[in-house]
Amino acid sequence: MEKLDPLDESWQRALCIVAHPDDMEFGAAAAIARWTGQGKWIGYTMVTSGEAGIDGLHPDQCRIVREAEQIASAHIVGVETVDFLGLPDGVLEYGVPLRRALAREIRRHRPDIVITGNFRDTFGGRNLNQADHIAVGRAVLDAVRDAGNRWVFPEQLTDELEPWGDVQAVWACASPLSTHAVDTTETFAAGVASLEAHAAYIEGLGWENFDAGEFLEGISRATGQRAGVAFAAPFEVFPMGWGS
Ligand SMILES: [Zn+2]
Repeated sequence: MEKLDPLDESWQRALCIVAHPDDMEFGAAAAIARWTGQGKWIGYTMVTSGEAGIDGLHPDQCRIVREAEQIASAHIVGVETVDFLGLPDGVLEYGVPLRRALAREIRRHRPDIVITGNFRDTFGGRNLNQADHIAVGRAVLDAVRDAGNRWVFPEQLTDELEPWGDVQAVWACASPLSTHAVDTTETFAAGVASLEAHAAYIEGLGWENFDAGEFLEGISRATGQRAGVAFAAPFEVFPMGWGS
């Protein structure tokens, strides 16, 4: 397996933009715990509330359960800011409306790094990725550029919001084309607890004997082997600065 390079950690603010509650917890949460432990600010933006994610629960109720689980899950890894954009779960479309919504969040939070989930066509070998993940990841890359251009979505630029063009990179966690990794050995347990906070969702999946610790240990150990540490989380890095 190809070696993974260590991620740059010389930044202060990161905004994580993902489609669903639980997207951060299936692999990235231990890395988030590491970074908040270093004193960095990290915010979560959930494009949907994952309201279509539990077969036996109507979206009106499901939304409430899943938002509460996500907020609790985020707190475990030191994230206090969790925003829900309320776009429709399962039927997100890549396009200008999604880019507009994400550019606004980037202008509001002014991050150095934007983190998203894997948006390649597959994950973990030949498993097909989910449509919302692909739409959000592609829109994140564009929205980072949009946020820095005062002539794109200019109606957002009022007294409170200015263009923000200082995002250095977009990092996509668990991409099959990952090039970098971060050591999560010390914060592995927080990552497990963060996934376990999605109890109603995991129960709703109906996976027999799912063990969050075992699951995360398997993927973290495999990544760790490629990074020269016990446990690690993998990221594909997209440099966004003009100079890079
Ligand atoms: Zn998802």
